Amino acid sequence: MSDIFDKIGQTFSDIGDSVSEKSKYVAETAKLNAKILQEKSSIGSNYSDIGRYYVEHFSDNADPGISDKVLAVVKSKELICEMESKILALKGYVKCTACGANVPFEDKFCGKCGALLEKPAAPAPEEDITPNVSVVPDDAPSDDKV
Ligand SMILES: [Zn+2]
Repeated sequence: MSDIFDKIGQTFSDIGDSVSEKSKYVAETAKLNAKILQEKSSIGSNYSDIGRYYVEHFSDNADPGISDKVLAVVKSKELICEMESKILALKGYVKCTACGANVPFEDKFCGKCGALLEKPAAPAPEEDITPNVSVVPDDAPSDDKV
């Protein structure tokens, strides 16, 4: 009789071992996955720093293998700069090219550093991108047909 209880006890013990083995495996895997994620994030951050450094120092003679990417970054930076200037102009300000301060558009000198302000040409009106609709297609119905 006690033999059966011993066997049952042994079985529960085995199940317990297997469960704790399994949860140990799950916990260890989760821990490793979290560390992998951390390293991947670190790689991404370092890649970003490398890219920024490369564009800042080698944009003029970038390797042909990545020159299109470097050019794209340079172009995007120029566009951002233009759009920021437009926003500033809409607010009635201009950026001092000497110190970077925002100065009222009507001022002649920077209030912060005293530099003579370079005024950009008055912002051009937005281009009319409405498609030309005056072209009448050949198969358009005409008024003289009844
Ligand atoms: Zn200034």
